[in-house]
Amino acid sequence: MNKARFFCHSFQRPAVAAYLSLGSNMGDRQRFLSVATSLIAAHPDIALECVSSLYETDPVGYEAQADFYNAALRIRTTLPPCTLLRFCQSVEHLLGRRRTQRWGPRTLDIDILCYGRLTLQTKHLTLPHPRIAERDFVLIPLREIMTGIGLPTASVRLVKRDWYKSTCLGEEKAIK
Ligand code: AMP
Repeated sequence: MNKARFFCHSFQRPAVAAYLSLGSNMGDRQRFLSVATSLIAAHPDIALECVSSLYETDPVGYEAQADFYNAALRIRTTLPPCTLLRFCQSVEHLLGRRRTQRWGPRTLDIDILCYGRLTLQTKHLTLPHPRIAERDFVLIPLREIMTGIGLPTASVRLVKRDWYKSTCLGEEKAIK
């Protein structure tokens, strides 16, 4: 993490800890999560602090689709929450996400799970994310980066620890 650059851009607002959930169930799922993580880490107003293990998870909502890969990230950011959401959506779009079917297959899904202690309900953004507690595929990676323990279940299976550091895009600046 390049702290000098991060703090240089962040002088107007304090950096806030936020948690993101990433998911993919199309194509090279690990690659989509890896490129997304690198794009997030490369943003000048975001510092990537922690990446969970990679988990394979059963689809929820619409079950006739491929299993997902999921991971959670802890970041610190000076971006306001709606700007962070727009940035996450631009990363989804860049990686081929097209919003056709709700709960349907996707190259990449990024949800903001929480943004500091902020609670917010607007047309486009609800914080904390309203469905965190119902979803093991969110909770298990999230618990890992909060406590260090993931505890997989039948519907959420550990694939790899340190998957992000082992990719070619996992530059040393990306994570502390
Ligand atoms: P999804 O299909 O899961 O990607 O849902 C995306 C929609 O949820 C977008 O239209 C967002 O504006 C909205 N949304 C509301 N709250 C959140 C949140 N905390 N993180 C991400 N998207 C959110």
